[in-house]
Amino acid sequence: MRFIRADPVTETPKSAREFLDNVSDPRTLTSHIVGSKPRVQRRAYDFMHISQLDEVCAREYVIGNLSQATRKETVSFPLQTVFNMGSAMHYWIQNHPEAYFGRDKVLGYWFCLACGNTRRFGVQPADPCEFCGAAARASIYKEYSFRLKEHGVAGSVDIILKVGSKYRFVDIKTTAKEVLSPIGSNVVQLSSYMYFTQFDKGGLPLKIDSSLGYLVYFNKMFNFKSPVTTFKVQPTDRLMKPIIAKSRQFVEGVANSTLPDPKPSCISKNFYFAKSNPCPMVAECSTYFFENVKKFKKSS
Ligand code: SF4
Ligand SMILES: [Zn+2]
Repeated sequence: MRFIRADPVTETPKSAREFLDNVSDPRTLTSHIVGSKPRVQRRAYDFMHISQLDEVCAREYVIGNLSQATRKETVSFPLQTVFNMGSAMHYWIQNHPEAYFGRDKVLGYWFCLACGNTRRFGVQPADPCEFCGAAARASIYKEYSFRLKEHGVAGSVDIILKVGSKYRFVDIKTTAKEVLSPIGSNVVQLSSYMYFTQFDKGGLPLKIDSSLGYLVYFNKMFNFKSPVTTFKVQPTDRLMKPIIAKSRQFVEGVANSTLPDPKPSCISKNFYFAKSNPCPMVAECSTYFFENVKKFKKSS
């Protein structure tokens, strides 16, 4: 007697099952059971995401935006696995404030999974959802996200932390090794959150202390001495100058159809990129450069 009806569409064919039953090599077994396809994602060139601001190129974004292209990114399976573990840790840390920062210290919006409404801003709710009555545990942390058209940037902040009478940003990073000093691109990212969110009027119901934030590295490997390491970050003019210039180049380039200059590193390597990591706009960019074109021309 069959108690559970097998799904005829997803049932593994007998021959495939027989094949799998004879596989014992862990790698082969993994590739058949887990799957290892790369993930392809596409994004419009409408905003430069602050998490990538340090490395993205304003010229690429201007060309991409004006030609209404999308930015294709392929994430390999090994990288996806690492990213997924990082996302799982972010989720755990944000939704268990009592485990790290303190329940009354982590602020944000809270999203009710039962009804799909965003609840009030504040500390993790202990009461049922005011919209649908679902238990408090149905509410999850919702990162503060922003999009600033006049600066051409977008981002979302991991945690808003109450420190005494101030509210500061925390950027969580996961790592597989002990971090002895903050990583440059992480400092740029957190500094950019502090700098740009000053212009997000009405985005948050409280004032953020934009003079100081925290980079908190959580070690994914067992480390008795330093499972978590925290660094202070204070945005400096020297650090922010090129970032602000990049955001201006993008916004003004789009508004006036003018092309920012190519990166000197791209010119010096004659626009050569490794196949695994090409610039999506390299063909258009190099053509404009060699033809000395300064203004974007719509292709007819
Ligand atoms: S080829 Fe280099 S300069 Fe040109 S758009 Fe790409 S990254 Fe920018
Ligand atoms: Zn609800």
